[in-house]
Amino acid sequence: MEKWPLGVFASIDAGLGVRLEVAHELGVPTIHLHAPHKATRTKQHAEQFLAKLKKLGIRISVVFGGFEGESYADIPTVTRTVGLVPPATRAARLKEMKEISDFAKLLGVGAVALHVGFVPHDASDPLHAEVVAVVRDLCDHCKDNGQNLHLETGQETADGLLQFLTAVDRDNLFINFDPANMILYGSGEPIQAIRKVGRYVRSVHCKDAKWAAKPGHEWGAEVPFGEGDVGAENFLRTLNEIGYTGPLTIEREIPQEPSRQKEEIGRAIRLLNGLKAKIG
Ligand code: MG
Repeated sequence: MEKWPLGVFASIDAGLGVRLEVAHELGVPTIHLHAPHKATRTKQHAEQFLAKLKKLGIRISVVFGGFEGESYADIPTVTRTVGLVPPATRAARLKEMKEISDFAKLLGVGAVALHVGFVPHDASDPLHAEVVAVVRDLCDHCKDNGQNLHLETGQETADGLLQFLTAVDRDNLFINFDPANMILYGSGEPIQAIRKVGRYVRSVHCKDAKWAAKPGHEWGAEVPFGEGDVGAENFLRTLNEIGYTGPLTIEREIPQEPSRQKEEIGRAIRLLNGLKAKIG
């Protein structure tokens, strides 16, 4: 397979990605797909969808799960609402993630991913053991489907993430590295983090952000890839260093402004193609 094929984060009927048609117009060969709503996660829809992708010449590399009731409004809201950490919604969301894994299998996709939520840093916190258990359960379901599970980075420091991966102790658990999230959440300098967690990186988001005045207490600001504090060239050089050759998937979460979203992703594609020619 070609090194570093470009990709975009795409959506069918749920999530903040671009429409498939837009991915095609942008000319990318791969996508990360936000899992569609339950009603769309059927064998019939999977077949129709695969036929469409084949016609457009697009391959799905990872299917991402997301849940009703999640909000990224601010950091405390993320803690309360996102992923498999909040106890009240955990069982229902685990069931839904397993269904998403089954749907990804129908699509022939070997990796599913999610934001697991804020894992407590203190391993003696009972919540920590509960989150370890739920992620193990999900890993084992994915394993039966022949899949890896990728945790989206952001909420944890690189050391916290390594600790958590070690605690879960499953050989199909990996990372989707999103450098902008490290900045948005204030969880550490992303380039240093990639070097630490490099052996677990199996997919990436090309997304950019600027640090908040008080990182970790307030949000940083997401900006077009190449215009923030990640450092696009350094990011690719570091991916090269760790031996990552998979898709470079651009994520730009402004679906309320589709024309701007497409224009900015187009610019990111030109930037990445230039850097690929230079580094790749
Ligand atoms: Mg991301």
